[in-house]
Amino acid sequence: MTSLRLEGVSRAFGGVHAVEGLTLKVPRGTITGLIGPNGAGKSTVVNLITGLLKIDSGRVTASDVDVTELEPHQVARLGISRTFQNIRLFTTSSVLDNLLVGFHRRETRGLMANLFGMPSVARELSELKRRAQALLERFDMLRFADLPAGDLSYGHQRRLEMMRALASEPQFLLLDEPVAGMNDVEAAQMGSIYREVASSGVGLLLIEHNVRFVAKLCETVHVLDSGRLLASGSPAVVFNNPAVVEAYVGT
Ligand code: ADP
Ligand code: MG
Repeated sequence: MTSLRLEGVSRAFGGVHAVEGLTLKVPRGTITGLIGPNGAGKSTVVNLITGLLKIDSGRVTASDVDVTELEPHQVARLGISRTFQNIRLFTTSSVLDNLLVGFHRRETRGLMANLFGMPSVARELSELKRRAQALLERFDMLRFADLPAGDLSYGHQRRLEMMRALASEPQFLLLDEPVAGMNDVEAAQMGSIYREVASSGVGLLLIEHNVRFVAKLCETVHVLDSGRLLASGSPAVVFNNPAVVEAYVGT
């Protein structure tokens, strides 16, 4: 099965070993969990995979393509998409326009620079709009298309952010605490959406604090503590591991 793989990945900030010798894989078509206390290195893992931070040592490959040294836009073009721990939407722009930004990986003529002008660009834009509307329909958001993104409920803003990450049709989607702050109903809806996205062939890395949520969705869970893997395996095994219980109770 094709996977996103980290092999012995390390990164330090001064004397802090944020991530140390991390090896794990995210197979396509599955949801892989990454949990751990605050400061464990989870967001750093996402930043290292996507090229936002440079890796000190180790290797990252996506479907056997080495992406270790690549810049963020190159990593994105190879099919690795992400969301951020803090929502990053253009709050005064419409929901549809926020989504259009997500197509930039596939678009050929520089959409944002060429919104006005040549007929070929206009054709491309209308095709992208059609695809954005299809995405809105798929995730039950079509009725919000013309609303400013900032007017959406918190849960729907999170959903829109994930949809924007999906617009580029990634192989892998990295979600950094995507349901933090959602109520149980909103989180459960997102859970169903993640399942659907995974079954369409995308490999999801889900960073999340809610143990029950992770246990319900993930085949495999990795527990990070001070940059190192504390445990890996099925949720049933991992969440009964005394070291894992201690790491959580201890914080
Ligand atoms: P988590 O997402 O698990 O809460 P982070 O990956 O954000 O943890 O942080 C792991 C450690 O690395 C923390 O000690 C944090 O302060 C440090 N760290 C993360 N990013 C940076 C950075 N850009 N510069 C300096 N230290 C950082
Ligand atoms: Mg984090």
